[in-house]
Amino acid sequence: MDRIYNFSAGPSMLPLEVLQKAQKELVCYKDCGMSVMEMSHRSKDFEEIIFGAEDTLRELMDIPSEYAVLFLQGGASLQFAMAPLNLMRSYHAADFVNTGQWSKKAISEASRYGVANVVASSEDAMFNYIPDLNEDIFNTEVDYTYLTLNNTIYGTHIPNENLPNIPGVPLVGDMSSNILGEAYDIKKFGLVFAGAQKNLGQAGVTIVIVHKSLIGNHMDITPTMLQYSTHEKERSLYNTPPTYAIYFAGLVFDWVKQLGGVGEMQKLNEEKAAVLYDFLDNSQLFKGTVVKKDRSLMNIPFVLPTDELNAEFLKQASASGFANLKGHRSVGGMRASIYNAMPIEGVKALVELMGKFEITHK
Ligand SMILES: *Cc1c(COP(=O)(O)O)cnc(C)c1O
Repeated sequence: MDRIYNFSAGPSMLPLEVLQKAQKELVCYKDCGMSVMEMSHRSKDFEEIIFGAEDTLRELMDIPSEYAVLFLQGGASLQFAMAPLNLMRSYHAADFVNTGQWSKKAISEASRYGVANVVASSEDAMFNYIPDLNEDIFNTEVDYTYLTLNNTIYGTHIPNENLPNIPGVPLVGDMSSNILGEAYDIKKFGLVFAGAQKNLGQAGVTIVIVHKSLIGNHMDITPTMLQYSTHEKERSLYNTPPTYAIYFAGLVFDWVKQLGGVGEMQKLNEEKAAVLYDFLDNSQLFKGTVVKKDRSLMNIPFVLPTDELNAEFLKQASASGFANLKGHRSVGGMRASIYNAMPIEGVKALVELMGKFEITHK
């Protein structure tokens, strides 16, 4: 069977070249006589894989040496707890902007360990916009300010140029669904994290980038495995890390680098997203659900006028080889997730299908 266009929000489509490289090396990695899966995480070969992946990521995101780069488990969801456990130390409080389900989960987890102030929210409009992030709304007597940088479910994002600058307060960013998809200045953050399964590879590894000044001051109750210091000291080799997922993420990093880096990737993503947004803006039938200024480059939700039409379009799409376009249950309709690995041809083909549907359903 041929590969199809997979618009899944995550785990999501991966670059074909990377899958093929992994396939070639699956049984025997280089001249090791074994698969990466079978390799000791203490071996020299694996050290080359993990430290090599770290180096490439540092280069791609321009991560200064004052930051640690960690390869952890537990998904982005575990970072909802690790961030407060490690960072809520002086004020036992943090500021949150509620931009949807992932922020809500982070808020609820943080409030187990301290005070989680919700300083702005877009819940009044089903999270279809990003609230004004004017610096006056934020507190300065908090341990950090928390933002979800790309809202996978609702299709909004906070680009680098809109990040608030709150003097003395570290910024924490959930970058799960747009890491390496658009450029951010890492120096604006104290902590950034991202699960791998949207833009970096297979599920199982979580990237954490944390300023070293925020490491080592965790709460006493923090389990050893949830202390950033444990993993920083051992360079993510305190216990067995998700070795194959790290190897695979390393291949994806190489692929992004080969394509010209994050800036180039962002340009491609802007072109891709524009194809779909232009169609939506001009359609009499399909409608985007997000206010223009806050639209994500990665996740694009859209709807038809009735549930019946949504269902019919999804049926046609799936029969024509476009998978996983069903919207999240809280938004309904459709959602096209067009991460780095989705080629522009996939988006153009989708728009063509939407155009045909529109002509026959006017
Ligand atoms: C998918 C996602 C998560 C959850 O990631 P897990 O790795 O499944 O824990 C958190 N935040 C955002 C923005 C996401 O897209």
